[in-house]
Amino acid sequence: MLTIDGSVGEGGGQILRTTLSLSLITQAPVRITSIRKGRARPGLMRQHLTSVQAAAQIGRAEVSGAAIGSQEIVFRPTTIAPGEHTFRVGSAGSTMLVLQTVLPALLRAPAPSTLTLEGGTHNPMAPPFDFLELAYLPLVRRMGPDITATLVAPGFYPAGGGLARVSVAPAPSLAPLTLLSRGEIRSKRAVATVSNLPNSVAMRELAAAAAVLGWEPECFKPSVLNGGHGPGNVLTIAVESEHVTEVFTGFGEKGVRAEVVATKIAEEARDYLAAGVPVGEYLADQLLLPIALAGRGAFRTVRPSSHTTTHLQLLRDLLGIRAAVEQISEEAWHVEIDR
Ligand code: AMP
Repeated sequence: MLTIDGSVGEGGGQILRTTLSLSLITQAPVRITSIRKGRARPGLMRQHLTSVQAAAQIGRAEVSGAAIGSQEIVFRPTTIAPGEHTFRVGSAGSTMLVLQTVLPALLRAPAPSTLTLEGGTHNPMAPPFDFLELAYLPLVRRMGPDITATLVAPGFYPAGGGLARVSVAPAPSLAPLTLLSRGEIRSKRAVATVSNLPNSVAMRELAAAAAVLGWEPECFKPSVLNGGHGPGNVLTIAVESEHVTEVFTGFGEKGVRAEVVATKIAEEARDYLAAGVPVGEYLADQLLLPIALAGRGAFRTVRPSSHTTTHLQLLRDLLGIRAAVEQISEEAWHVEIDR
């Protein structure tokens, strides 16, 4: 049986999720060792365990070692079972990372699927719902499958309680994706959302973001969520271009000034704009898997993160793809994948 060492490179949850995704797709059993060894609290946390359980449900898999804190699992899928599935993270853990685990297998499944995801929809260190909806899914749709994602209720870290629905109409094969330029910029906006926090937090974030970005005042909007959500604050900056939309997200944290959160995210957006590339840091590591499944593709991006280099190595090892990453200017890199 194939054994994957979860401690290599980034040593985080992504190695676990991609290995599960590919085990489902290839239907090859796999042992994953040293899970999340590179993290402060290694092993399966709640959201990773939910990813394993979700993959097991989709793959009608036999799994051993699926417990909180476990650093080794064996996963033996028997099929891919599209249809209606509900996955509950059971905490504010990221539902979007659970989706990331099962989505690749469902993109080419023999029938459509509808997923109900309960837990966190806007989590630090995970793709937030808006990133998924505006940046990631439109590109996957361009490769053939039809996917719609609906945010029924947002779930912010740490309260959670969010609900998202995702429906997937698969395609028999994925078309290659080439994304070398972003084209003309069509809109730019920064939205600061607060839930059960003073509106002044949002206003301070927008002022700090405006100071970095220098965009027209109408690009900056506060948003207040009323209702039963816990306290939450997220600043979402979206740059919509002809060929791609990129989304940059920062989360308010206790003890961190709103200005600090906003400045950091605004600088990320500013650097992306200055680099002149279509694909930002997070989109880069997340596009690798669908492109590898398509067998071919290329994009231009900012400096590759350790998530990107780790993910590429895993895809080389598991799918036998060839991948080249070349720096083409001070701020831009070209990533090329084929079989
Ligand atoms: P890991 O740290 O290994 O669990 O992987 C985290 C995943 O979340 C990676 O695929 C990142 O690209 C993704 N991610 C983290 N932060 C963001 C963000 N702000 N926007 C979009 N994706 C993110």
